[in-house]
Amino acid sequence: MKVKDLEFKPFIKAEDIQKKVKTLAKQIDIDYADKTPILLPILNGSFIFAADLVKQINIACKVSFVKINSYVGTQSTGQLKTLIGLEESLFGQHIIIVEDIVDTGLTLQKIVDELRSLGTKSVEVVALLRKTPAREKNIEVKYVGFEIDNEFVLGYGLDYDGLGRNTDHILKAKA
Ligand code: 5GP
Repeated sequence: MKVKDLEFKPFIKAEDIQKKVKTLAKQIDIDYADKTPILLPILNGSFIFAADLVKQINIACKVSFVKINSYVGTQSTGQLKTLIGLEESLFGQHIIIVEDIVDTGLTLQKIVDELRSLGTKSVEVVALLRKTPAREKNIEVKYVGFEIDNEFVLGYGLDYDGLGRNTDHILKAKA
């Protein structure tokens, strides 16, 4: 499949993703059996993963989609990233961030810090994919679907310049 200037080849099959999603949901059911967590999918990339995941979770839970707003500060602070779209108070709540992919983990670290500062009871992360750098830096991701090498992936919600999100499987860029 060609998207703009890049050629992609099949990587993770739809049925393997669905199997993995069920396994992740089962673990969340066990770990949060006596709690009512709030799932916080980060848009846009995680919308398909989040939709499939919540269908497999059987315990009581809430879902609230959020976005990350990246902007350049007026000072020389560089890029600041904050969560937007939070509609309810997260104070005293158990939060599960739903991410499509963790690469350097920098985005995630900022979000986790921000959520902790809001007085949440606990903050964990479920990521469908995790790349080597995050693994090496020990970025804490409690639930990981697939560990992958440092390659560019597409599909199942993940995009290349806004394109290619609409597949039921994951592809990777040809070397
Ligand atoms: P991090 O802050 O962990 O380096 O970046 C994470 C974000 O970068 C992800 O939520 C995703 O939007 C984007 N990203 C990282 N790696 C890939 C990739 O291989 N493919 C796509 N489509 N997006 C990626």
